[in-house]
Amino acid sequence: MAKLTILEFPDPRLRKKASPVETVDDELRTLIDDMFETMYAAPGIGLAATQVDVHRRLLVADVSSNGDEPYALVNPVILEKDGVQVSEEGCLSVPGYFEEVERAEHIRVRYLDRNGDEVEQEMEGLLAVCVQHEIDHLDGKLFVDYISEAKRSRIRKRLMRDQRHRSAAVV
Ligand code: ZN
Repeated sequence: MAKLTILEFPDPRLRKKASPVETVDDELRTLIDDMFETMYAAPGIGLAATQVDVHRRLLVADVSSNGDEPYALVNPVILEKDGVQVSEEGCLSVPGYFEEVERAEHIRVRYLDRNGDEVEQEMEGLLAVCVQHEIDHLDGKLFVDYISEAKRSRIRKRLMRDQRHRSAAVV
């Protein structure tokens, strides 16, 4: 397994729309394992392939407190949404920032699992938030798109300054 590099806002590669996965094979399963390793190490509760610069429709999530309920969703599609929940979200690609975002409380999702089998699943609460957040990534959308332009531009400026400091430090 290998830890992957997570892209950070405002990297334009985070805005690419991911293409459907055509076959669930060993190469994809290796990517899934690497994404889990990267997510758990961060640590985070979800990671979309877009965030590691792979523009295919794949995400991983684990919202359990023990890190023992891993989900890998290939080509996820939200079939139904209902209810509303507002929660504070963060993102591994926008480190250090948390903002309230409104999402559906309940979703029904269809996806392929790591064996390529089709699954339809009801999700609610934090798992539903996480999967909606990660599917947004696959469409090039970030949680900061839900907040005001003024706030987003403050975050952009601060992160760009942090990124410059970090790359200066490794030279
Ligand atoms: Zn995110």
